[in-house]
Amino acid sequence: MLTRRHFIAGAAATFAAPAIIRAQTVFRAYPFSLGVASGDPSPDGFVIWTRLAPQPLEQHGGMAMAPMEVSWEVADDEAFRNRVAQGQAVARPELGHSIHVEVAGLQPDRPYWYRFQVPGERSIHGRARTLPLAASSPERLSFGVCGCQSYPDGYYTAHRHLAEEELAFVYHYGDYIYEYRGGPTRRGRAGELIVAVREVAGDTLYSLDDYRRRYAQYKADPDLQRAHATHAFFHSFDDHEIADNWTQDTDWDEIPPEIFRLRRAAALQAWYEHMPVRRALMPRNGEVRMHRAVRVGNLAEIDILDTRQYRSNQPCRDGFTPVCQEIEAANATILGAEQEAWLARNLQRNQARWNCLAQQIMMMSIDRNNWDDSGRVLNMDTWAAYETPRRRLLARMAGLNNVVVLTGDEHQNFAGLLHDRDRAVAVEFVATSISSGGDGSDRREGSERILASNPQIRFINDQRGYLTCDVTSDEWRTNYMVVDRVSTPGGSLSKRATLAMAHGEVALREV
Ligand code: FE
Ligand code: CA
Repeated sequence: MLTRRHFIAGAAATFAAPAIIRAQTVFRAYPFSLGVASGDPSPDGFVIWTRLAPQPLEQHGGMAMAPMEVSWEVADDEAFRNRVAQGQAVARPELGHSIHVEVAGLQPDRPYWYRFQVPGERSIHGRARTLPLAASSPERLSFGVCGCQSYPDGYYTAHRHLAEEELAFVYHYGDYIYEYRGGPTRRGRAGELIVAVREVAGDTLYSLDDYRRRYAQYKADPDLQRAHATHAFFHSFDDHEIADNWTQDTDWDEIPPEIFRLRRAAALQAWYEHMPVRRALMPRNGEVRMHRAVRVGNLAEIDILDTRQYRSNQPCRDGFTPVCQEIEAANATILGAEQEAWLARNLQRNQARWNCLAQQIMMMSIDRNNWDDSGRVLNMDTWAAYETPRRRLLARMAGLNNVVVLTGDEHQNFAGLLHDRDRAVAVEFVATSISSGGDGSDRREGSERILASNPQIRFINDQRGYLTCDVTSDEWRTNYMVVDRVSTPGGSLSKRATLAMAHGEVALREV
């Protein structure tokens, strides 16, 4: 694989350190095939990421099982004339030869450019913006929201367009990969045949190598690479990074928890390896402390939530099923005690003009029954099936009149109102998928009935795309950006709708 290897021993005093391959190493193929990424920006820096994988689909990405030194640099101009930070990092086989560098000491609220290098090879360059200082008063904030990017379901045309937007950063709510087996077709939950627009390799994911290979195939996509190279991302995970509809230590099939935890640990390790996140999110004992707060000056606080890892099992046999008494369970939890207390504290402090909850599953309780009159049907994988913690959270939002909830998971666009008893306390913007579900249409069959039985919903649309949020101290605007198709490359983008909330008044207005 490596035509020449120079193993250098560590310095004499640290001979226990592993030998690192460097210098004169020649790759059979381009080692930066998965592109670059940046994430978790702060006022003085961000994480820069890459993974060495000369043969993305081969075992270990085609890398030799030894650590390898990679140099990195950050400049304040696109031509890299003025380098402001540089260093060496070690791509370790234990982490799939991924690199996470936490760059610090930069200036607030401006763009930087970064790239990586190994002997003879250089990565493409990426761009990332630092955040404004927490004590500053930014006039406006524009950021993107996206997720649910099933590779076999469609092309990443939405990512290609996302890369053209002027944004401070992107929030990715998860379903970055899907764990299903590859091939030209697969069976859905109801046994239906789903035909792939493009094929992923491999069987259903279970082992660390399985998950790594799936990320490698997704990350080799040029449109996805372009979005990452243009914007810093805040990543969270949803279910398909691990397994369909998992919660805590239970999956859809409810296999023994001690066995599911092994799969979850492998999946979360691969997630960490492929995301530009900080070291604080490295898995410990198979768990990731993913929830975190982001401050954009005094304009917005964004609380990124984890609605999977601490959640009690779905009630009423999961899925889209008729309501049962279990949704009222007093001991049910979505966030777990610690995260819920952390969020309550953040909302109570109310330190920024806007409070934003960036999370995964729908918070509105909506009746999904659009086929007959047999009664109310809920998606048991949403907040609606966890009424006790849902009411508790909505009560905490009451009176703030500045809360915006961002959501994914549905593979449809929605905008609507959240109520504490009869009072509207927040708005919810649900972002459609990048590709999951295929082309779609303006309105899915049955949508009229959903709108009629759920008056809190103000907008519904079933096309692929992403959201952009334009925030000022007086108004929060969410733009629903949609592409006309994902089944073939080259789909065109349009702004399907803009919904706005005025600060201090919980209501939605179509702009
Ligand atoms: Fe999804
Ligand atoms: Ca999901």
